[in-house]
Amino acid sequence: MEQKRLVEKDPKLKKDDLIVIGGGGGFIGGSLASYFTKKGFSRIRAVDKKPLPEWYQRVSGTECLTMDLSQEENCIRACEGAVEVYNLAADMGGMGFIERFRVECLRSILINTHMVESAYRAGARRYFFSSSACAYNTLLQQDPKVRALKESDAYPAMAERGYGWEKLMSEIFCQEYWAERGLKTFIARFHNVYGPFGTWDGGREKAPAAICRKVIAAVDNGKKSIPIWGDGHQTRSFMYIDDCTKGIERITHTDELIATPINLGSSELVSINELVSKVEKIAGVKLKREYDLSAPRGVAGRNSDNTFIKKVLGWEPDTTLDAGLKETYHWIKEQYLARKKGKRVVE
Ligand code: NAD
Repeated sequence: MEQKRLVEKDPKLKKDDLIVIGGGGGFIGGSLASYFTKKGFSRIRAVDKKPLPEWYQRVSGTECLTMDLSQEENCIRACEGAVEVYNLAADMGGMGFIERFRVECLRSILINTHMVESAYRAGARRYFFSSSACAYNTLLQQDPKVRALKESDAYPAMAERGYGWEKLMSEIFCQEYWAERGLKTFIARFHNVYGPFGTWDGGREKAPAAICRKVIAAVDNGKKSIPIWGDGHQTRSFMYIDDCTKGIERITHTDELIATPINLGSSELVSINELVSKVEKIAGVKLKREYDLSAPRGVAGRNSDNTFIKKVLGWEPDTTLDAGLKETYHWIKEQYLARKKGKRVVE
């Protein structure tokens, strides 16, 4: 029989303890660096393989390193002196990306494998891994009228090809680093995150950003229609970035959640058609929808069952889609107009 480890209390995180963020040049990693900085943490090291000008955010006072974290020696360097390590690095994108580039998605396993080992060897106290709702059994997601996914629905496993299996395997690494080696690991399964400073063009963007951009472009070009992937009936829930960063921090500092995957997502379910209507309302337009039935569309429906997070944290991501979309729409519009004027923007 497996033995339960005793959870030893560790000291409270000090404001000058080193926090390492893998994927710090990306959407969520950059937002997390900004979140910790605003909370007064003064030693943050953000690491990403992208060249610095392509980072979504370069947070003032943060040490920014450009390194490929699929290489072990870079992970060792990244984790040197770390008290907490947050792994948000992965080769990822929306449905268009993860259905097309399964090998790239699978290769992200190298990042987590080396990061968790390096964090352990560096003596880090806590390690966070960003998993995904794509780790859930896809057979449970074939109906747009979904039953929300609860944590136990990952097994028996039938994850999303490529991306989902990488997440599931990396989760297992995290669980065994706790069971065998006593590293406190934390695993959140994110459900579609959106917000300012995220991908909004170029093929990796997800539905909220893509729809905002398409509506903005249609208004700008005087076009009366927008293309939509699929038939618009697919359903999803979307979590605003501020809820995501808050959730990451809370999960990582809750010992009850050690090595225990937990949903981090909104439970406000919408169809893609409803999402388009919300964006149209913000923009003050009505557009003709041209459905592209040959485009990637992913599972028919997916929602987050938040029973567990509400029980453990007494909280769930609670920014309404209307409020979050408004912020996101205006941010994307600024980027769109700046790009049109020939300014350099990160897409
Ligand atoms: P993102 O693409 O904006 O950020 C990921 C970052 O990782 C990128 O900046 C990328 O350059 C970096 N990266 C990729 N390979 C790397 C490598 N070998 N070495 C160093 N850096 C590397 O994506 P995001 O939305 O910020 O996602 C962060 C994490 O959350 C990922 O693990 C992702 O799978 C997970 N996630 C995100 C969502 C979402 O809706 N955004 C949903 C579920 C899970």
